[in-house]
Amino acid sequence: MLSLHRPTLQHHILNEIAKYTTIDLPILKEKGVQLTVKREDLLFPEISGNKYRKLKYNLIAAKAAKQRRLLTFGGGFSNHIAATAFAGKRYGFHTIGVIRGEELAHGPLNPTLSLAVKNGMQLHFISREDYRKKECIDFIKNLEVTFGAFYLLPEGGTNALAVKGCSEMIHALDERFSHIAVSVGTGGTLAGISKAAFPHQEVLGFPALKGDFLQKDIRNFTSEKNWRLLVDFHFGGYAKIQPDLVAFINNFKEATQLSLDPIYTGKMAFGLLDMIRNDRFKPGSDILMVHSGGLQAITGINNILKKKGEVLLL
Ligand SMILES: *Cc1c(COP(=O)(O)O)cnc(C)c1O
Repeated sequence: MLSLHRPTLQHHILNEIAKYTTIDLPILKEKGVQLTVKREDLLFPEISGNKYRKLKYNLIAAKAAKQRRLLTFGGGFSNHIAATAFAGKRYGFHTIGVIRGEELAHGPLNPTLSLAVKNGMQLHFISREDYRKKECIDFIKNLEVTFGAFYLLPEGGTNALAVKGCSEMIHALDERFSHIAVSVGTGGTLAGISKAAFPHQEVLGFPALKGDFLQKDIRNFTSEKNWRLLVDFHFGGYAKIQPDLVAFINNFKEATQLSLDPIYTGKMAFGLLDMIRNDRFKPGSDILMVHSGGLQAITGINNILKKKGEVLLL
């Protein structure tokens, strides 16, 4: 049973249809293409966008299993770490974040990690070498010896229940769109969307990191063939922030009032507008771009840009 003094998960299930923002840019008129943003970022600003979708059925499963402790993995800027910490506080779980990089334990925590701690998460820093063992049974067993039994959420939060949650992003009101664009980390969100998309829709995934290991991972979670990956917009890899990406995000914000994050959604929007500019969409295309959130990372990224003397994100 969920305890009564906490907001229940069921309550949120009633409130999770995201709003839309229509984008008005000269290039769209010129090319005869419509672009609408699905504002998953507004659902729960603290559990931004897709990370809420991915947690939902996992939290329900953890409650059903009477598990009071969640353990998961992530890097220093991880939206999934931030979301898990917040959800744990809100729904009454003790949370443990196993963080990649021992060096992060020394000196002040970055904004993502200090907010996680403020939300009650216990951080456990490990070396990059140990972090690579995060899927090994012995390694998990050792964590159980250290912390006691826990409900395990994988890195990035992607598992079958997460994909189920993500498929709820797409519903009857989305039928008019010809394409759905989404940013890709593990591909769990893309897999969920591909399952829920209408037969005439094509799902376009924009990986935020390098490598083509993703195709296979995504096929583990969806048997649909309605999706493809656009692999040219990763800007050098995960959390690599280049000045032309910062300039794009800042220009986009000035033109549309919409904030994008530099790790995921900024790269997707850059790629999408690049494709529109290069006539990769027929006139009449009606594109839905999923804003999966991630804005919590901006403060921490700006701290790094400031140290390097580079232009900051607005
Ligand atoms: C985690 C994340 C993604 C990627 O989601 P996956 O399901 O891992 O592909 C995209 N956008 C934002 C903002 C995220 O935090």
